[in-house]
Amino acid sequence: MTNYMKIVQSEDHSTLVMTDRFPHDINADLHMHSTASDGALSPEEVVRRAAANGVQVLSLTDHDTLSGQQAAIETSKALGLHYLPGVEISVTWGGETVHVVGLNIDIDHPQLDQTLSEIRGGRQARAEAMARDLMGHGLPDVLEDARAYARNPELIGRTHFARALVAKGVCSSMGDVFQRFLTPGKPGYQAHQWATLTQAVGAIRGAGGVAVLAHPARYRLSAIGNWALIDEFKTLGGQAIEVVTGSHSDQEARKFQRIAVEHGLHASRGSDFHAEGESRFDVGAVPPLPDATRPVWHNWVG
Ligand code: AMP
Ligand code: MN
Ligand code: MN
Ligand code: MN
Repeated sequence: MTNYMKIVQSEDHSTLVMTDRFPHDINADLHMHSTASDGALSPEEVVRRAAANGVQVLSLTDHDTLSGQQAAIETSKALGLHYLPGVEISVTWGGETVHVVGLNIDIDHPQLDQTLSEIRGGRQARAEAMARDLMGHGLPDVLEDARAYARNPELIGRTHFARALVAKGVCSSMGDVFQRFLTPGKPGYQAHQWATLTQAVGAIRGAGGVAVLAHPARYRLSAIGNWALIDEFKTLGGQAIEVVTGSHSDQEARKFQRIAVEHGLHASRGSDFHAEGESRFDVGAVPPLPDATRPVWHNWVG
């Protein structure tokens, strides 16, 4: 375990004091992806990249699967990083897709395994329907290309289709894809029923983990809808929200910092790194959490 001993100024600036844990200063990145879901690097490569970027506490949070966890645990151990087993669960709430990150979960917990396996089950048929819908709009058939990008066939999803559309020259970038395709109302989008919020939070808590509402600013919810989501999430046992993520602007981070404080939720920080050249932030390179929030990693370090 890394030693966090630091010398800092006392609050009145009169003396220097020793502090062994300084949680806001810890480079914690608690949201990232590997080839086990829709990231481009293997679990080993993601963890190595995190270490090279100075990350001290990390969690690999692949969508709806734990298949990358063992490799991430072993690589982190070899590199002396504090690793929290993680997952990002797809949820349907109020007609909107919402993501819930689970941190420090027991990766051998049967209920969590069962919930994730049920969620994964629908992805093949969904991918086929997405490909048909794109073709129905005059686009080329990219199903086989998307399948080739999906290194874990059970986890085929929109990112793999997006990479295929960019490689085919249909779109100029991943951002361009999601502007024109694969999102509600656009060609290639397929409405899908994921887990319920109750199932996701229940499975994470049941496996001894901490449930974190991922990138809340991304949801197309009114202020009241947002409040209802966070209130229900908390009632079900959710304990934290992502304040700083690759999906939030600085303004959104400040807004969700206030919301975290209002609701008495811990704050999380994660890059949501998927691939170089695709993701806005590299592993460990998102801004620090605002001082006013209580970092979720207080639970494990500091
Ligand atoms: P799926 O689980 O198949 O619906 O795919 C969701 C994934 O698509 C997300 O986790 C992101 O990796 C990616 N994604 C969704 N919207 C965007 C966007 N606007 N820009 C880039 N990637 C996106
Ligand atoms: Mn993703
Ligand atoms: Mn997400
Ligand atoms: Mn993610």
